[in-house]
Amino acid sequence: PNLLAQQQASIAQRLAIETELHHALQDNALFLAYQPIFDIASGSMHAVEALVRWRRQDGTLVPPDLFIPIAEQSHLIVEIDQWVMAQACRDLATLRAAGFDGLKVHVNMAATEFANSALPEELRQLTASLGVDPSNISLELTEGMLMKHPEQVVRVMHDLRKLGFEISLDDFGMGHSSLSMLKNLPISSMKVDRSFVRDLPTQERDRAIVNTIVGLGQHMRLDVIAEGVETLPQLAVLREAGCTLIQGFLLSRPLSLQDLLVQFPEGKSP
Ligand code: C2E
Ligand code: CA
Ligand code: CA
Ligand code: CA
Repeated sequence: PNLLAQQQASIAQRLAIETELHHALQDNALFLAYQPIFDIASGSMHAVEALVRWRRQDGTLVPPDLFIPIAEQSHLIVEIDQWVMAQACRDLATLRAAGFDGLKVHVNMAATEFANSALPEELRQLTASLGVDPSNISLELTEGMLMKHPEQVVRVMHDLRKLGFEISLDDFGMGHSSLSMLKNLPISSMKVDRSFVRDLPTQERDRAIVNTIVGLGQHMRLDVIAEGVETLPQLAVLREAGCTLIQGFLLSRPLSLQDLLVQFPEGKSP
């Protein structure tokens, strides 16, 4: 009934979270969790995805689904993703020194950043200053921005590729990117959204979709990563479809750097 009051409440709430998040960045209240992506063909850890976490002063964890969309409406997202990138580079150096050979790190990028033509140079400087080769970094991008500013985003993607960064199309199949657009995107991998993985063992149609994405990846020489794999039957269908890069709770939850080093010595799969 009282829509205006509701809107005002949510605006107030948003602003409060923005202010708190601003302090969180300064107080080092953000940290990263790493979820492994395994290559089940070779049995090795192919990559880890860096996932940002925010611990409030009272100890509660705020899920990224709650604060990332708010941060995206302000400049905060740029600061967050810069912090994430820098921390992920430092941690990658630690992991490689611990025997995780050839490991890559996937970093989520807010869609709006791909419209920033200065992004490639900013990331080049940041990674160079931390001694990390851009080819060890895969930038995860969702389809949203591609639809809004295709030319601009594709140009930034090409510039990033020229510098050696990899690009991974996240939540593939959820947006509206057409196949003709996919043809011209300089990407190195696609991540099959977990909504297609969930019902794989029982839904013929989901199986058809996943088979098609995996086949597309093979023909286009793109890696296909399945996310949200929680059960052995899901894994079996994916394996049968030829999908070998697997991420999900079945193999590992997102872990702190310390836990990652302890649970997977030298990056061997479970
Ligand atoms: P996403 O990029 O699709 O990340 C995967 C999400 O799925 C993560 O949630 C992960 O914990 C969860 N997940 C992984 N395996 C499973 C599984 O087997 N089952 C289920 N049910 N879930 C699984 P998380 O960490 O809460 O992140 C949510 C979203 O927040 C991410 O979705 C991403 O869009 C965003 N996000 C996270 N970190 C960052 C960041 O550093 N920067 C930006 N811009 N966005 C981020
Ligand atoms: Ca590898
Ligand atoms: Ca992601
Ligand atoms: Ca995803």
